[in-house]
Amino acid sequence: MSEPSQPASTPPRKVRRVLVVGIDGVRHDVLLALPTPHIDAVAAAGFLTAVEVADGTPTMSGPCWATIVTGVTVDKHAVWSNDFSGNRLRVFPDFATRLAQQDGRRTYVAAGWDPLVTVADGGPLFAHPSRLSYSAPAADTPEEWEECDERITEDAVRVLGTDDPEASFVYLGAPDETAHFLGCGDAYERSVVRADERLGRIVAAVRGRAGYDAEDWTVIVVTDHGHVRAGGHGGRSGAERTAWVACAGPGVIAGRAPDRVRHEDVAAHVYAALGRTADRHWTLDGRPFTAGPKAVLFDMDGTLVDTESLWWQTVEGLARELGHALGDADLPAVLGRGVHDTAAHLHEVTGGRRASAELAAELDRRFLAAVQERTVARPGAVELLDLLERDGVPLGLVSASPRSVVDAVLKSLGAYRFQVTVAEGETPATKPAPDPYLAAVRSLGVPAAACVAVEDTPVGVASAEAAGCVVLAVPSLTPIPAAPGRTVRDSLEGIDLDWLRTLVAEGSDQAGWSK
Ligand SMILES: [Zn+2]
Repeated sequence: MSEPSQPASTPPRKVRRVLVVGIDGVRHDVLLALPTPHIDAVAAAGFLTAVEVADGTPTMSGPCWATIVTGVTVDKHAVWSNDFSGNRLRVFPDFATRLAQQDGRRTYVAAGWDPLVTVADGGPLFAHPSRLSYSAPAADTPEEWEECDERITEDAVRVLGTDDPEASFVYLGAPDETAHFLGCGDAYERSVVRADERLGRIVAAVRGRAGYDAEDWTVIVVTDHGHVRAGGHGGRSGAERTAWVACAGPGVIAGRAPDRVRHEDVAAHVYAALGRTADRHWTLDGRPFTAGPKAVLFDMDGTLVDTESLWWQTVEGLARELGHALGDADLPAVLGRGVHDTAAHLHEVTGGRRASAELAAELDRRFLAAVQERTVARPGAVELLDLLERDGVPLGLVSASPRSVVDAVLKSLGAYRFQVTVAEGETPATKPAPDPYLAAVRSLGVPAAACVAVEDTPVGVASAEAAGCVVLAVPSLTPIPAAPGRTVRDSLEGIDLDWLRTLVAEGSDQAGWSK
């Protein structure tokens, strides 16, 4: 399969920046019960959702953070405990290192836990961010960890406020240390609230940036694991293995968490938020949080199939039997016309030997038979339908052709693929009015803005855009220019779900975090 081309629609857009704040060992239930307005603000602009530490992953900081920042599971990065020896982080590096080394991007990491940023215990997890702030606690006590988090926060406020890192990771460790020393009681809760306050100061620094108006920020807040009530983790209890992620930013629609979020999705989302398509050989296990299309709606003729040539051959065959050789002069009366117009034309050019209505019925019969037997799918169409079906994406057919033709095509393409089909005359108005697309999205119960409509003509594009769909134009005869919310490509070949995902993200004008 060939590499899909980038979306052709590139209206000037803001520069992308990503901040990940990792807070160690914050129980999901404790978080929900505490006043944490800054995490709540991220959740309100995007989502906050529980994350279950995967079955084979120890509920320990090392393995969990490694999964979070590499985007691959423990089997690949091989950080199996808080001793990082034997890791495969050179093969599966953290996002800050990958972006700095491979793309020359500015990245920033601030942390005080040794193996994250030093060679202690087989580290570092973050090998080569372009900027690194390391500030270790004077001792492993809750008080010293608060001091350490404070220094890290001050550094982050300074760097994020005045420098320009494109992707950052800031680590706060005091809540975890407090739970280990004192259990998950009042002191732990106060530490979680303080971590939220520190997040608030870091985010305020981002918002106060001189260039903030020209930037589009993604903010991710994540914890690695929970704790048992008495403090401690490493086991498989719900309290230990339930972590969480909050995220807001472009492409993340407020109030719509992805169906299932995993730790490895964090790094995948960092890349996606920067507009960096992950290379296949990175073998990321994570997927961006960006919602995929809730449905893909296809125009039929010219987009999925080409029935025009069959129509021409049908008319040509009947004309020949009646002694008329179809030629260029007949084109305007045959292509893009209703069957009755074409029948009336045939009636005329063949000297009125058969009644127009009779010719229309005969054309209908022969054309439908031809469509059913010999429909030719457009390049890449069947592969794309197969792929979307495999991924469980609901599909709709939104056609301007009569129901009889739609049904004949469906017999060949597979009617079972489509949850809804709309044919000519089944809505109050037809394309370019939005009605056919609106009927399809209503029937599917999905928002139009979360649907990709695939069209081949300007009239169809106008209909889909009026309905509010994200449009993928694959022009057949008439060229179609790119526009905001509209992507143009040469064919359906090579399209995959990740690519469609980026279309929905680009097309969504949700940039809740920036507003
Ligand atoms: Zn931890």
